[in-house]
Amino acid sequence: MTESNNDCIFCSIVAGTTPADVVFDGGDTLFFRDINPKAPVHAVGIPKVHITSLDVLTGDEHALVGKILHEAADVARDLGVSESGYRVITNVGKDAGQEIEHLHFHVIGGEPLGPLRS
Ligand code: AMP
Ligand code: ZN
Repeated sequence: MTESNNDCIFCSIVAGTTPADVVFDGGDTLFFRDINPKAPVHAVGIPKVHITSLDVLTGDEHALVGKILHEAADVARDLGVSESGYRVITNVGKDAGQEIEHLHFHVIGGEPLGPLRS
């Protein structure tokens, strides 16, 4: 974990340098709409500190991740998909297709999402 990474787009959203459509600010977390949504509802939730992925999580960060997941459920409710259902996903590394190396949780819904893999 580092406070901020100059080369990281999500850190620059936290810093306010890159604009984002913020849907929830949890103080140490931030949720904003994905710039390239994969479903009618697609938000991304991040810790404000720079953590590369779940793979490098430390014990000190357990509570932060639990908080993000709880907030993801609140955001899903705010965005109107808690009744219809939604998916929370985090990609880790190359095979998962992780593009942004700042831990993030996708909150996706608003239509039937199909199987995890087809
Ligand atoms: P991943 O493939 O799990 O690393 O997902 C990264 C996600 O970040 C993708 O769904 C992108 O569309 C999204 N993304 C990239 N840049 C931005 C941005 N500036 N604002 C919002 N979402 C972004
Ligand atoms: Zn970052």
